[in-house]
Amino acid sequence: MRSDGAFEALAAALLLGGLLGCTVPAEEAAGGRALIVAGGTLLTMDDQRTIVENGAVAIAGSSIVAVGTDRDVRATYPEATVLDATGKLVLPGLINAHAHVPMTLLRGIADDLPLTEWLTDVIFPAEAEFVDEEFVRWGTRLACLEMIRGGITTFVDMYYYEDAIAEETDRCGMRAVLGETLIDFPAPDNATWDEAVTYTERFVNRWRDHPRISPAVAPHAPYTVSGDHLVAGHRLATELDVPLLIHLAEDKSEVETILEKHGMRPVQYADSLGILDDRVLAAHMIHPSTDEIGILAARGVGVAHCPESNMKVAAGVAPVPQLLAAGVAVGLGTDGAASNNNLSVWDEMDTAAKLHKVTTGDPTALDAQTALALATRGGARALDMVDQIGSLEPGKRADLIIVNIDGYHQQPVYDPYSVLVYSTQASDVETVIIDGRVVMKSGTVLTLDADEVLTRAQEYRDRIRAGITHPQ
Ligand SMILES: [Zn+2]
Repeated sequence: MRSDGAFEALAAALLLGGLLGCTVPAEEAAGGRALIVAGGTLLTMDDQRTIVENGAVAIAGSSIVAVGTDRDVRATYPEATVLDATGKLVLPGLINAHAHVPMTLLRGIADDLPLTEWLTDVIFPAEAEFVDEEFVRWGTRLACLEMIRGGITTFVDMYYYEDAIAEETDRCGMRAVLGETLIDFPAPDNATWDEAVTYTERFVNRWRDHPRISPAVAPHAPYTVSGDHLVAGHRLATELDVPLLIHLAEDKSEVETILEKHGMRPVQYADSLGILDDRVLAAHMIHPSTDEIGILAARGVGVAHCPESNMKVAAGVAPVPQLLAAGVAVGLGTDGAASNNNLSVWDEMDTAAKLHKVTTGDPTALDAQTALALATRGGARALDMVDQIGSLEPGKRADLIIVNIDGYHQQPVYDPYSVLVYSTQASDVETVIIDGRVVMKSGTVLTLDADEVLTRAQEYRDRIRAGITHPQ
C-alpha cells in the first residue's frame, strides 16, 4: 500500500495491509472457481467506510469471500482468475430503490405536466391501451440494459405482469425486489382487487426461494387503495413474510385528500391502520411532518427517495437530512422512466446532494459520501437486505462494479466520493458483477441483445405515437 496515495486525506479509513476478512479457505475456493477483482481502489462502504488502495475482492460462487490488499488477496487465492481493475474504482453495485421498469417504453411520452394531469390524462390511459405482457417484457429488457450499463445491480419494482418482469430480470442476471401492483381500479392484467391478490400469492410462492428475485406485496398508495385493502395487503405481506412496497406522502394533493377524508396526514393514517413496520419500503415520502418522521423511525419503515422524479412533477422535496437524523433508512430511486427520464442512480446521487443544499441553504446538508451511502448501503438497509448487499464485505453477495475515472469530465481526481457523485456518469461504469456473475464487461452488457431491444423500443414508440392523443 502506498503511503503517499492519491486519497491520503482519507487515511483514517484506509486499510493499511492484510485482509478485512476471509470466509472461505483458499483450497475450497480454488480450482478456477474463484474470481479476483484486483488492483483498483476499493470503496467498501462498510461501517468504517474502509478504502483500500491497490486492493482486491475475491469472489467464490455468488459470494464475496475476501476483501483486502491486492498482494494479500492474490496470495490467499493463487489459482483464481484475475480481473484487472488497476487505475479504477471498485464499489458495491448501486441500488435503485424505486422503479416501474416497463415504463421505459413511455420515456418522454409527455413531460412538463402536473402530477395528477400527467397520470390521469396521459399515463393511465396509455397503460390501459398499450400495456400487455409483451410490452412489459420489452420494457423490462430496455430498463435492465440501461440499469446494468449504469452499474445498478439491485432494483425495486412495482408494476403489472410482475411475473414477466421477474422472468426477464432473472434472465439478464439482475437482483430485484418485485411486487405486483395492487390497486382499486382495473389494471391491465388483473380486473379486480381479488384477482390481483390471488396473482400476488401465486407470484410470491413461485419466486420466494430464488437467489436473486425477492417477491413483495405492493399496494399502490393510500389515495388509490382503500383502508380495508391496505390492511389486507399488509396482512398478506405478513403472512407470506415478504416486503411491502407502497407510495406514501407522494405529493401535496395526497396529503390534502387524506387529511380531508380521514382527518390525518398520510403517514399517521397508514400508522392508524397498523400497516407500518420494518417490512415496509415507502417511496417518495415528500411531506412527512416531524411527528410522522418519528413514526417512520419508530416503526423501522424504509424510504426510497426519488429526487429527480419529484422535481420533474414539482411534487416537492423529501426532508432527507431530517429522516437520516431520525435514523430512518433511506435509499435512492429513479421512479419510472416517464417521470425522470432515465434510470441513472448517478444522476440521483448528484441531484440529491445538490437539492438538499438548496432547500436547507446549507452546503453541508448532504455530502458526497452520504449520497453514495444512500445509493448503496442505505438502499440495502431500507430493503432490509443489508446483511446481503450494499457493501464490499466477506460473506455478502458478490454484487460489485468497476468504474472508470479517467474521463475528461472526471480528471484530476482528488477524492473518490467527489468524483463518483459529482462527476461520474452511468457510461463510466466499466464492469458489472451480480451474484458472482460478470453481466457487463468493458461497457458491453453480456446478458441482453441490445440491438434487438432498441429496435423493439422504437417499434413501440411508433405504435404508441400513432395511437395516443396528447392532452394539448
Ligand atoms: Zn412510483
